[in-house]
Amino acid sequence: MSNHPPVSRELFDEVMVPNYSPSAVIPVRGEGSRVWDQQGKEYIDFAGGIAVNCLGHCHPALVGALKEQGEKLWHLSNVMTNEPALRLAKKLVDNTFAEKVYFANSGAESNEAALKLARRWALEVHGEHKTQIIAFKQGFHGRTFFTVTVGGQAAYSDGFGPKPGDVVHAEYNNLESVKALISEKTCAIVMEPLQGEGGIISPTDEFVKGVRELCDQHNALLVFDEVQTGIGRTGDLYAYMGLGVTPDILTTAKALGGGFPIGAMLTTTEIAKHLKIGTHGSTYGGNPLACAVAEAAFDTVKDSAVLAGVSQKAAIYNEGLNAINDKYHVFKEIRGKGLLIGGVLSDDYQGKAKDFLIAAMEEGVMTLVAGASVVRFAPSLVIPDEDIQEGLARFERAVAKVVNA
Ligand code: PLP
Repeated sequence: MSNHPPVSRELFDEVMVPNYSPSAVIPVRGEGSRVWDQQGKEYIDFAGGIAVNCLGHCHPALVGALKEQGEKLWHLSNVMTNEPALRLAKKLVDNTFAEKVYFANSGAESNEAALKLARRWALEVHGEHKTQIIAFKQGFHGRTFFTVTVGGQAAYSDGFGPKPGDVVHAEYNNLESVKALISEKTCAIVMEPLQGEGGIISPTDEFVKGVRELCDQHNALLVFDEVQTGIGRTGDLYAYMGLGVTPDILTTAKALGGGFPIGAMLTTTEIAKHLKIGTHGSTYGGNPLACAVAEAAFDTVKDSAVLAGVSQKAAIYNEGLNAINDKYHVFKEIRGKGLLIGGVLSDDYQGKAKDFLIAAMEEGVMTLVAGASVVRFAPSLVIPDEDIQEGLARFERAVAKVVNA
């Protein structure tokens, strides 16, 4: 039995750097799509740790893999390879367009590797002029300095002094804005195949196919950031598979480890060869413990019943949210794909997504926001249908509270 001294939310303000403002609730236990806090209050989890807990909390397959590997071997360093990393890499390669894998520990790090690789590739294949990176306004790629610079939100990238250079931003779903920027100097276009943090915005068919064509015309790489959309979230193993557009580099993290930190960058042999020995690395990237858990998550999600369940569960959400909306008229649109769902607040509630999140928490359901005016849902891919119904009933009470406030 552990014998820790009691802690409370107040301690956060005392001992933690103030970059977060966490809820007053401290969860202590989770099982499936239910979570309990210090006081024993139960919550239904529609947030999934921001699209991370693809199999809910403490899924037996993940707990089993963690325990098994935890008693075998945790860490070695990249001076040696290890069995779980090799097995997971093989599965990623066998199930995607990719031929090579680089392991990291987070989404930002996976993107950092992708950006550095794209720059290396362009330099070595085409020359020093080819450094421009085109990304998108409202895009989000992580919090390292390169990735916030590539992300399209000044609130995250400004205020830290000079940024990495030659990064420009076009408008998502506006092919003309990409055409206006792209040239032989473009090294890569970086995009989310569904903008998550930016407000749950799907690309149009014409846009995503047009971006691929522009990359091909200008010898630029297409980088898909699938950190949020990957591992079954949209109903396909990776979102690119449902779009009919294949990137040159893909990044994946979040749900890859089902809650254990891991990320990966996937690409072709031809591109990968430019990250030669010593050009990039990470102490923890590809460590056996993370890879063993990720392998179990991957095997479980890849099951066709899990992937098929995503659209069936998404239909329950859409029906339930529309029914709530018919009564309360809080959303002007319910959008997204699979179990990445955004309720766009109507004009009367603009900027108030957080109010819904707080009220939902009070009613016992965890939700997310995507910007100030979109309420986001990213539950476990295997959330039981009864939990969806019960969570929606609680969410309806939260909506009523906000509307009647
Ligand atoms: N890329 C996308 C599309 C994301 O949604 C996120 C996180 O929200 C990241 C990258 C950053 O991932 P991490 O926080 O693991 O660095």
